[in-house]
Amino acid sequence: MYYISTRGNTPKMQFSDVLLMGLAPDGGLMLPETYPHIDRVTLDKWRALSYTDLAFEIMSLFATDIDKADLKALIDKTYTKIAFGTDEITPVRTLKDGIKILELSNGPTLAFKDIAMQFLGNAFEYVLKQKGERLTIIGATSGDTGSAAEYALRGKDNIEVFMMSPHGKMSEFQRAQMYSLTDKNIHNIAIDGMFDDCQDIVKALQNDKDFKAKYRLGTVNSINWGRILAQIVYYFKGYFASTTDNDQKVSFCVPSGNFGNICAGHIAREMGLPIHRLIVATNENDVLNDFFNQGRYTPRTPSETFITSSPSMDISKASNFERFIYLLSDKNGETISQLWMDSKKGFDLSDKLTDINGKYGFVSGKSTHADRIATIKAVYESDKDLIDPHTADGVKVARSVREDNEIIVCAETALPAKFSETMAEALGEIDIPRPTHTKDIETLPQFVTVLDNKAELVRAEIEKVVKI
Ligand SMILES: *Cc1c(COP(=O)(O)O)cnc(C)c1O
Repeated sequence: MYYISTRGNTPKMQFSDVLLMGLAPDGGLMLPETYPHIDRVTLDKWRALSYTDLAFEIMSLFATDIDKADLKALIDKTYTKIAFGTDEITPVRTLKDGIKILELSNGPTLAFKDIAMQFLGNAFEYVLKQKGERLTIIGATSGDTGSAAEYALRGKDNIEVFMMSPHGKMSEFQRAQMYSLTDKNIHNIAIDGMFDDCQDIVKALQNDKDFKAKYRLGTVNSINWGRILAQIVYYFKGYFASTTDNDQKVSFCVPSGNFGNICAGHIAREMGLPIHRLIVATNENDVLNDFFNQGRYTPRTPSETFITSSPSMDISKASNFERFIYLLSDKNGETISQLWMDSKKGFDLSDKLTDINGKYGFVSGKSTHADRIATIKAVYESDKDLIDPHTADGVKVARSVREDNEIIVCAETALPAKFSETMAEALGEIDIPRPTHTKDIETLPQFVTVLDNKAELVRAEIEKVVKI
């Protein structure tokens, strides 16, 4: 399989090269030339497979330049009961009203990003070894992404990680999760500033071509193809767990921000998985909701973005969106370049709304703070089940768009233990269970370097630590 860029100006590449990339050199996103089609016979065979065997079947269609036995070993090493709590890896539970919850958050940092990131960590290490290369990962985080990246890359050979976070702006739990790591290749830097300042430092260092080349700077952000690929697997697994045979259809409802999670669902549907609808759930930052309802995409700036109680969805420029718009625009790289030329302005594809909703099955709904609180409360009262604020946005939207007899599977994107304040607002001071490995995490010693908001200081820190 070969990969091309959505902007059409990057030479074709194979999986192992695409894996280490962020943006394509032409500014686009990499994706397969065509998505493989899964026929009914294959789908019937896959129904009985374990998570790891299913992951191998799916990923080997895309990672065609990786030795099959090595790929199987990478998958088996990643998706273990020790890391994810069960052999099913992503089990499904059902609420009293029939809505199903696909558990994606039982990994080390209690958010769905672990599923892709844990694979990426192992795959990076493998590919770097094959190529005889090393990588310095730099990133900015306001919480979830940084911890998922650090837990995936800790202790990996030939990889150093420098993660910038806004000093004093994360929750106690998030700080403890990241700063308590003792692995020698993990470097936490708290910047005296906001998340956007951290992001600007990452951009400044990336834009310094000499520094970037010398230190082999890389990122693990949500546009990485390897992350999307690893996420396709749980749509298949979730489908099989929610149905009894392959004549049935299900809809997936996904709390969304950067469009990374649901993009994998879209690809699974393109591959022939019997998905009825893909339901995009947003919070008050409803750029995607506007697009899927009206066909108009109007990205917003960081200062126009609301800070909400489902913070991992506080995004107003959905970075993976281009992978879907490419398909919607009949795979025309020039059209994509045009649409994104003035990326601040956005674009109007309302003439394609029939395709967006019909052919591609997308619908969308929005949830607010009050909805989130009410949904957490309602689910607790009816089911004694605890869902986190992001998952609550999904359940709220699923309930509001549900058709008669529609099987809706909601993606559980985080565990409630991560968001104790909002849980307390909804439920009062009840005990929120915590997985064993995070029980006393706040009492561990923390390791973090606090720096002024200056890219030069971060650069000096990298030069001090990484010996070239
Ligand atoms: C990252 C994240 C999301 C949003 O996922 P996207 O792939 O960016 O759409 C939703 N919920 C939680 C808890 C997250 O960490």
